[in-house]
Amino acid sequence: MTSTAKLLAELIALPSVNPAFLPALHPHAGEGRVAEFLAAVTASAGLDVEFQEVFPQRSNLLARLRPAGKIRRTILLAPHLDTVNVADEKHFVPTRRHGRLYGRGACDTKGCVATFVSALCELAKTNSRPRETEIIFVGLVDEENAQAGSRALVRSSAFRRLGGSASTSLRKAEFQTPDLAIVGEPTQLRLVTAHKGSLWLRVETRGQAAHGATPQFGRNAVHLMSRVVDVLETVYAERLRQQQHPLLGHATVSVGTIAGGTQPNIVPDHCVIGVDRRTLPDETERRVCREITALLKAHGLDAKVTSQKQSPCPALETDAEQPLVRQFLRCIGQPEPAGVHYFCDAAVLAGGGIPSVVFGPGDIAQAHTADEWISLAELERGKEMLLRFLKSLP
Ligand SMILES: [Zn+2]
Repeated sequence: MTSTAKLLAELIALPSVNPAFLPALHPHAGEGRVAEFLAAVTASAGLDVEFQEVFPQRSNLLARLRPAGKIRRTILLAPHLDTVNVADEKHFVPTRRHGRLYGRGACDTKGCVATFVSALCELAKTNSRPRETEIIFVGLVDEENAQAGSRALVRSSAFRRLGGSASTSLRKAEFQTPDLAIVGEPTQLRLVTAHKGSLWLRVETRGQAAHGATPQFGRNAVHLMSRVVDVLETVYAERLRQQQHPLLGHATVSVGTIAGGTQPNIVPDHCVIGVDRRTLPDETERRVCREITALLKAHGLDAKVTSQKQSPCPALETDAEQPLVRQFLRCIGQPEPAGVHYFCDAAVLAGGGIPSVVFGPGDIAQAHTADEWISLAELERGKEMLLRFLKSLP
């Protein structure tokens, strides 16, 4: 096994399930073990390591490779450290078969973590490291649930604090807002500059309760909702298909949950559905809620549409003409950037003013599955591609 594959195997063996998916204090919960392990790995490669607490026992890890000269730009390598849960303990036992490594997080996204850390540690050992570019590995917590790690990072002054004891004037000259964040997600080693946003909407209908034997005296909220569902899944879905984004295709809508009524012999006075809506870059939560309310009204349907997400998950659209993005594309031999349909930390970092792209080995089709795996050849190729870009930086 290469050092990158070995690192990935060690990461898979350290459970870091997002606590949102487990009972309180479950032994597999949290990113702490992975963060501590990576702190030791990067520190021994000569990187400066720091933790940024997000929740008690859950911290972003920042490991920084300083350039020899004055810092003129900053690049972030930013994969997440958490994973989804497993159905079987064996998913924490990395297993190699037919050129693949199996285990929870192999592709989403410990494969990216191993690729990024391995490239950065290798760069730290060479004398072709950039002279004026600092590169910071940022291991983020909580991507799989509420992206608290990336949200905390952009809220904080973490970048400024990295300067430690430098004087104020020095600090001003030395620390910069990152010029580019490379967020790690399985993109099959394509550079991604756009992804869809994600909304969870709650749609409610109200009726009037009545005895089941005399339904003519009531108004059935479930029946009303059945027409709402139909309009959303046919008319609205078709309308969304009309608007195409060059990298993302069209927005989508999907009704995921429904609940209404209490028992068969009562006409239900309330029904609620949960709707997944994937957005294009110019669509906001407010605009989508207004749009759906108006469409339902036009069909004679009265329903209340609200957002269920605590924090916004907007779409990502980074200008592919930015010099660093073009340089990355050139280094990996990709003519034009790509888009993906899934939401990730990149949009949160971009919302905080950091130009962000997504890149990493693996296929999202394997993410969150019972037999998650990654191709070891692709893992290695990812490290080489990233290293080529990092070495090309001044
Ligand atoms: Zn992921």
